[in-house]
Amino acid sequence: MRRVYNFSPGPSAVPEAVLNRIRDELYDWQGLGMSVMEISHRGKEFEALVERTEARLRELLAIPANYRVVFVPGGATMQFAAVPLNLAGAGGAADYVVTGHWGKKAVTEAERYCTVNVAADAAATKYTAIPPRESWRLRSDAAYVHYTPNETIGGVEFHFVPDTGAVPLVADMSSTIMSRPIDVSRFGVIYAGAQKNLGISGITVVIVREDLLGRARRETPSVIDYRAQAADKSLLNTPATFVWYVLALTLDWVAEQGGVSVMAERNSAKAKRLYAAIDASGFYRNPVDPPARSWMNVPFMLADPNLDKEFLADAARAGLASLKGHRSVGGMRASIYNAMPEAGVAALTDFMADFERRRG
Ligand SMILES: *Cc1c(COP(=O)(O)O)cnc(C)c1O
Repeated sequence: MRRVYNFSPGPSAVPEAVLNRIRDELYDWQGLGMSVMEISHRGKEFEALVERTEARLRELLAIPANYRVVFVPGGATMQFAAVPLNLAGAGGAADYVVTGHWGKKAVTEAERYCTVNVAADAAATKYTAIPPRESWRLRSDAAYVHYTPNETIGGVEFHFVPDTGAVPLVADMSSTIMSRPIDVSRFGVIYAGAQKNLGISGITVVIVREDLLGRARRETPSVIDYRAQAADKSLLNTPATFVWYVLALTLDWVAEQGGVSVMAERNSAKAKRLYAAIDASGFYRNPVDPPARSWMNVPFMLADPNLDKEFLADAARAGLASLKGHRSVGGMRASIYNAMPEAGVAALTDFMADFERRRG
């Protein structure tokens, strides 16, 4: 059996310790003689898992007491609709800041439910930079300001939290949550699909400030109504129980590693190593404005795109998987989430140097 270094953007690598734990507990979870996916979500064992998951998340992210945590299905994409339905009110308006693919998707979905004002859009830079905060044209009557702290495809990340005054800030943190400490009190709503840094696909974490509950429009499906889910401990219907369990194990793993500040040190070191290797070569290139370069997703292009196929094939032979870039950007992309060890990034930069020596 051979494990490769998996640079997949999502679903993405799961820490090996988590996979081992799943294997060990699969037939008999907590002495029940059944797996976690075979038991009732209403039983005391699963309810304890639910409570443990929330407590871990609160501890890791230092979530203040006036925030509620809900776990919902539907991925981040469901939140693109849930956010306006929960927050904008009938006939309401919201500001969106677009720095890439996912921000655009969020706008398209929100337009079905509210008046969307695109307050800033980085299209002119081909989504390689963050529009300066001073240039954002925010509406005075916006119900919230939505942005994407890390654009997973373009590899563009905010390394600061923008100030939106009294208007609640809503963040799609799908590909950056748990990669570094965050000041939750700066946000109205944070949401993240689990399949990048929190486990596997099928569950979405929503952290919502308490005073924003209860604003949902009447026609909001109850499964994505933040207040309804908060009132029911996110067990309004049958949740993705196995996925929830993997989320809990992944949070335990982060805690065992030393928490988000340790993750941040490692992620910063990994990103530094990879960008340094790219910048030092005349063969590889990253198009993103340096202050906006992502710690999690690193796109890079070869000087000669005709070598892309050979690069990918050789990389796969060297045990470096899923490096193909998104079709809208081209080239390569290395996604280096929490589960990617520093040794994996070192193996990649060694391979890149070797490929350049041979083919550059
Ligand atoms: C992966 C991703 C999404 C899409 O998530 P789904 O679970 O497929 O809905 C949305 N936003 C960001 C920033 C992502 O990285």
